[in-house]
Amino acid sequence: MPPVVKDFDVVILGGGAAGLMCAIEAGKRGRRVAVLERSERCGKKILISGGGRCNFTNLRCGPDNFISANPHFAKSALARYTPQDFIALVEKHGIRYHEKTLGQLFCDGSAREILQMLETECRAAKVEVLVSTRVLEVTKSTEFVIRTADAEFRSPALVVATGGLSIPKMGATGFGYDLARQLGLKIREPRPALVPLLLAPEDRGHYCDLAGVSAEVIASCDSARFKENMLITHRGLSGPAILQISSYWTPPAPVVIDLAPGKKLTAAFDNAHAARNLRTLNAAFREFLPNRFAGRWLELNAPESFTNAALAALERRLHGWEIHPSGTEGYEKAEVTAGGVDTDELSAKTMESRKVPGLFFIGEVVDVTGHLGGFNFQWAWASGFCAGSAV
Ligand SMILES: Cc1cc2nc3c(=O)[nH]c(=O)nc-3n(C[C@H](O)[C@H](O)[C@H](O)COP(=O)(O)OP(=O)(O)OC[C@H]3O[C@@H](n4cnc5c(N)ncnc54)[C@H](O)[C@@H]3O)c2cc1C
Repeated sequence: MPPVVKDFDVVILGGGAAGLMCAIEAGKRGRRVAVLERSERCGKKILISGGGRCNFTNLRCGPDNFISANPHFAKSALARYTPQDFIALVEKHGIRYHEKTLGQLFCDGSAREILQMLETECRAAKVEVLVSTRVLEVTKSTEFVIRTADAEFRSPALVVATGGLSIPKMGATGFGYDLARQLGLKIREPRPALVPLLLAPEDRGHYCDLAGVSAEVIASCDSARFKENMLITHRGLSGPAILQISSYWTPPAPVVIDLAPGKKLTAAFDNAHAARNLRTLNAAFREFLPNRFAGRWLELNAPESFTNAALAALERRLHGWEIHPSGTEGYEKAEVTAGGVDTDELSAKTMESRKVPGLFFIGEVVDVTGHLGGFNFQWAWASGFCAGSAV
């Protein structure tokens, strides 16, 4: 039997944050929109985001919060759809929220409210959402033909919103990258980002029995610096400072950690009467670092002597502790995928391919990666909005 042919103005692959936002905008403009979602439900990542409370945007969102081979690319979309625009939508639906820290907005209740809001808006815009739909093939002639097991969808516009490779058990696939390649678009090599780092075996032996200990540090790599918490894990380091810097880290570069930002731990010795010994040093370290970590770090980095020069060297090491991670925890634990469809291939205003008219890429599949703190969703909303306004 020939497949059922369904005509739409726009077909969107992927019913995540970016795909749903794009569908809403296109539907509001009277376009006949279909969203084809591979999983049995849309927005699974929204549901697990922000520890179940969805950090849906950040009040301090700017282009500097994003990593891309072209740092200017995201500017236009971020200016056209701002955190205030998304907040207005959240407030229209009566969803209560709060600022947790550093401009990060979370639901008071549950991430489910954000997904329900998007689904309600989709219904109002008459978007057809088809879940558990596997795309077998995409071809392009005068229009796009998207073949699934039991139907053939045809439309002049195709939006790829299939996300990145992070958390494969939630349905993440490399489909968007493969399709981009098939249609002749360049890809910046995808890599796990916002991901815990693994310590090299020697450091693991030294520190990982302290799993659970955390401290406020500055983690840096090249010119990127983040002052936030670091957490020791069973295999390495995590916590916001490490997740943030992981997005910038490429082996074999070291990650440099300031263990006591703004503090001078050897200040105790400025007092001429202070006893110059390990005991004084230990006491000073324990004032600023968690006890167990302070003791361990000093044990492994004890000064050769207590001369001014040796103490100054210790102070420098403390503010510039170099670690050489052996790798990352990979896509299983990465919050996002960096890299993706090369932004040179896309219009910054509409996200449309420069080579293939009618083809759009939005959200995480594009080589734009946000910092931790609601920026990745803001990019999904903004890029989805721009494509939805153009299709
Ligand atoms: C644990 C976790 C917590 C997070 N918390 C936050 C947070 O609080 N704040 C924040 O800003 N960001 C957070 N993120 C990142 C954020 O979830 C993503 O950046 C965002 O969801 C990207 O949106 P997207 O629409 O591009 O992709 P996704 O949300 O991943 O959606 C892609 C959709 O496409 C579907 N799909 C895949 N392949 C196909 C195919 N072949 N055909 C059809 N459909 C397909 C998938 O099933 C999925 O529904 C978190 C990520 C994780 C993993």
